[in-house]
Amino acid sequence: MRDPVTITLTTVAQAAYLVAGVLFILSLAGLSKQETARRGNVLGMVGMGVAILATVVLALDESARPVWVTALLIVLVLVFGAAVGTWRARTVEMTQMPELIAMLHSFVGAAAVIIGYNSYLTEKDAGGAHLVEVYLGVLIGAVTFTGSIVAYLKLSARIKSNPLTLPGRNLLNAGALVVSAGLMVWFIPSQSIWPLAIMTVIALLLGLHLVAAIGGGDMPVVVSMLNSYSGWAAAAAGFMLGNNLLIVTGSLVGSSGAILSYLMCKAMNRKFISVILGGFGNEGGKVAKEVGGEYREVSVADTAEMLKAARSVVIAPGYGMAVAKAQYPVAELTSRLRAQGVQVRFAVHPVAGRLPGHMNVLLAEAKVPYDIVLEMDEINEDFAGTDVVLVIGANDTVNPAAMEDPGSPIAGMPVLEVWKADQVVVFKRSMATGYAGVPNPLFYRENSAMLFGDAKVKVEEILAAL
Ligand code: NDP
Repeated sequence: MRDPVTITLTTVAQAAYLVAGVLFILSLAGLSKQETARRGNVLGMVGMGVAILATVVLALDESARPVWVTALLIVLVLVFGAAVGTWRARTVEMTQMPELIAMLHSFVGAAAVIIGYNSYLTEKDAGGAHLVEVYLGVLIGAVTFTGSIVAYLKLSARIKSNPLTLPGRNLLNAGALVVSAGLMVWFIPSQSIWPLAIMTVIALLLGLHLVAAIGGGDMPVVVSMLNSYSGWAAAAAGFMLGNNLLIVTGSLVGSSGAILSYLMCKAMNRKFISVILGGFGNEGGKVAKEVGGEYREVSVADTAEMLKAARSVVIAPGYGMAVAKAQYPVAELTSRLRAQGVQVRFAVHPVAGRLPGHMNVLLAEAKVPYDIVLEMDEINEDFAGTDVVLVIGANDTVNPAAMEDPGSPIAGMPVLEVWKADQVVVFKRSMATGYAGVPNPLFYRENSAMLFGDAKVKVEEILAAL
């Protein structure tokens, strides 16, 4: 029997886990609204602090080695992790966030695989249920690991974002799952390492293939989907380690990621199943229309005149605004125009930028009032009555080909219908395509004009001209 002090410590740690779990739930609730997001973040951080502290106490309490050895190992790991984490958080640019997140997801996947093997090797004869946990944990972890690495490479433009379309790719994915299921039937009774090892290789390849098969425009869904997978991998690790908090946290991440993926699919008019199965059911063979013609350039002075004469202005921000860090002068332009009685509103596409909510974060950071930042569905009908639209570093999210060209790779994706306004000014540096690599006929419309240059510099010049 354990002595009373030990029982108290364990009980306190379990109670702390409960508190941390509740804090995580409150954190998620806070993060769902801009006004409460900061509080949500703080609650999450406090929850994580409590969780780490409780875990350290438990580890010391249950240590099989001398306590000082365990303590030393924990301190080393904590110092190393905290140093790397602080360094990355300080150096990462906002535009590199998605690739950083993809990389972090790969760590969760790798951790689940390692924990699975550790659990398999150290806890022999732990029973059938435990072996199922090990097998599923390694499977989900391995798919998350390589899938996240491919997502990282695509998001950081180290490899092309075009979908890889191997012949019979749906059969390959289905085959991998069937073979993995068969190997599990071999693994459980035999407890041999071979089926586990073969399945690991198959799952690693499956992760590679699933994400490689998904094209640029669908990457936002992949990021949130891998987020979900990493949550399930963590929950599986929780089962293997018998750690309740890891199970709760993993399930929270897994289910919120799945809900986000579903919402993003809905926003982009994509089939959820089609995206998570690596582009399953996508029709091939359609050819996109040629895009080209004459485009018109506009000067800073003319844009300023246009804005002076306008009564209503809508700003459609995109990834380029994040790259240029133009949100601050854009916020200043907004307050200047509003002071002159111009109605200014923002039109935010659900996948603008490179992260869900990317534009909302930037605009909030620059202190743009929340009530003039509207979602696509809230503002799309109003473009027709708008005098001037400023498209600042957005491209795919304002591409009319999505609605007008069934052969376009982004066909069917709802977009901001900016071309319905009287005049559109597109801020970008060149005629280059956006993330999905699809040419944009908006640039050649009669009511569109291009304002070439870095978005921040150009907005500052407009402010000076005003
Ligand atoms: P896009 O990526 O389509 O286009 C951004 C545009 O910004 C480019 O055409 C670029 O043109 C311009 N740009 C870049 N730097 C600057 C600068 N310094 N000054 C001015 N312009 C600049 O952006 P959108 O936001 O419209 O669309 C987002 C895309 O990213 C979608 O395809 C979406 O699916 C994808 N995606 C979104 C994710 C999400 O969760 N939100 C995650 C992963 C992908 P130029 O080079 O000529 O300047």
